[in-house]
Amino acid sequence: MNCYAFIGIQGSGKGTQAVLLSEYLNYQHINIGDLFRYNIKNNTPMGQTVKAIIQRGELVPDATVFELVRLNVSSDALGIVFDGFPRTIAQAEYLLDHYQLQKVFYLDLSETTAIQRISARRVCQSCGENYNLNSQPPHTKDICDKCGGLLIIRNDDKPDAISKRFAEFYEQTSPLKEFFIKHNLLVNIKAEGTVQDIFDLLKVNLASR
Ligand code: AMP
Repeated sequence: MNCYAFIGIQGSGKGTQAVLLSEYLNYQHINIGDLFRYNIKNNTPMGQTVKAIIQRGELVPDATVFELVRLNVSSDALGIVFDGFPRTIAQAEYLLDHYQLQKVFYLDLSETTAIQRISARRVCQSCGENYNLNSQPPHTKDICDKCGGLLIIRNDDKPDAISKRFAEFYEQTSPLKEFFIKHNLLVNIKAEGTVQDIFDLLKVNLASR
């Protein structure tokens, strides 16, 4: 099955761009972080296993991530856009072994801009809808447009967890760039612009196969 993947520091816009790309290609969108949060919210056995790890801002073990991917890929999907996967070399190898990886988009963003973006992020504590106070604010302050729930800052977006997640990114995920350059799959996209600018760049690179 064909697939695309995104890598980039927290706040680089992977989620937003992955949704746009999956709609554009009519592919299934798989966001690993959202799936873990769903499992935590519903207190599934997997949710119980990963809750503390995620709250500390650490990476979940590869075997658990593979299980999550396996359980969620729909067999009749036209293709998949992975968001938040791979994050380790073992995950990158898994992706190459199990899917026809077309391209990996590296969303290249400075840490300063990433922190600014993350500090504006909010999530609905009831339904999980994501907001950004700058680019996608709710109609009413602190209230979810969809369900009226309260908007909160994710625990793992708080300063301590964020520094841990940045450190994890540099340590574990950055080497993926080299890995995918070697496989001739990496596309570097400057991610400082608007959502539309970045998506336009991405589409140009899709066409240049
Ligand atoms: P995200 O919303 O993508 O930042 O993911 C939230 C958290 O879920 C991360 O900080 C990790 O704890 C966990 N997570 C998400 N994707 C992965 C992955 N590919 N490998 C390991 N842990 C992950």
